[in-house]
Amino acid sequence: MYGKRLRGVRAPHRKNTSGCAPARMPAPAAVVIPMMMHIGAPAKPVVAAGDTVKVGQLIAEASGFVSSPVYSGVSGKVKAIDSILLPGGQTSAAIVIESDGEQALRDGLAPPPVSDLKSFLAAVRESGVVGLGGAGFPTAAKLTVELPKIKAVIINGAECEPYITSDTRTMLDQSDLLWEGVLMLKKYLEADRVIIAIENNKPDCIALYEGLARAQDGVEIKTLPSLYPQGGEKVLIYNTTGLVVGEGKLPIDAGALVLNCTTLAAVVRYIKTGMPLVEKCVTVDGSAVANPQNVIVPVGTKLSDLFDFCGGFKSEPKKIMYGGPMMGLALTDLSFPILKTTNAVIALGAKDAIPPKETACIKCGRCIASCPLRLMPANIEQAFRRKNPEELEQLKVNICMECGCCSYICPAKRPLVHVNKLAKIMLRDYQDKNKTAAKKEGTLK
Ligand code: SF4
Ligand code: SF4
Repeated sequence: MYGKRLRGVRAPHRKNTSGCAPARMPAPAAVVIPMMMHIGAPAKPVVAAGDTVKVGQLIAEASGFVSSPVYSGVSGKVKAIDSILLPGGQTSAAIVIESDGEQALRDGLAPPPVSDLKSFLAAVRESGVVGLGGAGFPTAAKLTVELPKIKAVIINGAECEPYITSDTRTMLDQSDLLWEGVLMLKKYLEADRVIIAIENNKPDCIALYEGLARAQDGVEIKTLPSLYPQGGEKVLIYNTTGLVVGEGKLPIDAGALVLNCTTLAAVVRYIKTGMPLVEKCVTVDGSAVANPQNVIVPVGTKLSDLFDFCGGFKSEPKKIMYGGPMMGLALTDLSFPILKTTNAVIALGAKDAIPPKETACIKCGRCIASCPLRLMPANIEQAFRRKNPEELEQLKVNICMECGCCSYICPAKRPLVHVNKLAKIMLRDYQDKNKTAAKKEGTLK
């Protein structure tokens, strides 16, 4: 149980771009589209260097149940299939396409036939949509559940990370698609209870959906306090329904199914128009950016092109991130592409980017008090430094969701979340070695 008191941190919202309807960036000269933009098996290219492609054309097929197809967001010519480094350190094949600037649409673009659960799930699979809030889990796989298990479907409009407003814009600018998606989930998943969860720093969104839900049975709008990480899946499920996802369990085991609002809108766009996921609305912000704004770009657009579109930098960026400052991944250069899961890129100047000097732990317990999962980050740090994986196992570092609340709140500025990431690797190595040893001894079935 997580307990009654809400845990998390009150980070400054910095939603500077929430009132900024997205601008559409012209197609860049080239895009670099990785095959690994989702959890699961990488997509398999179906085009080769020299092929001509159009917007919405399949360029890579899903290679398993937990996988997702990839489509081109530009028209032009495939230049190469390269191997690139992703920000998480993995390498991935990537299709490089030179744009012809025409943005010609694929021939025969038409809505897929959807009339029942089977055809709905087939359409979700074909749409190329994955968890667009950042998780990247293929949406069709997520929706393939035993329907009687569903107690509540939760549409995640919390958008609790500072700076990011792309979901806010989806809720405001694509309310027709999002609302139709809610009705589709009710119909095809036979969901009696759909909850649209929105933090209270988005009053326009709350008013809009309260109006839509007034005449619809089984749809609730849940206004949540603005408390990071309100949008974390387990946190959101608990705070909207009281359901608890057990350790090592999936949300559906507790009866919950969570979909990000932009994910749902993208699925419905495909079902209504036949246009799969080929572009993303990205919040571009941070103290180093000349003109912070929301921008719609083809997936695969290089960060350098996106920042140029936003007027470049007004001061030298000292830190550039995919995502927000709490969970974002720092990047080493501007050649990385926009992925399906990228909802923001943030560039910070020196004042915001240089981390304060860490000092000794004063055992204040604030990291423990703020952890939404009731972990003990200070103790985890000590166990990690003592290289004690048994203790890390007891402290359950494996369930840490890397939200960063502990690091944020620590007055001694200990790098707690960074240590947790390393501690998880230490624990995994230890558990793998134990499994291998047990297999050799024949004690593991
Ligand atoms: S220990 Fe993990 S889950 Fe808990 S606050 Fe820190 S990063 Fe978040
Ligand atoms: S918040 Fe920082 S100083 Fe306080 S107990 Fe945790 S690690 Fe130590």
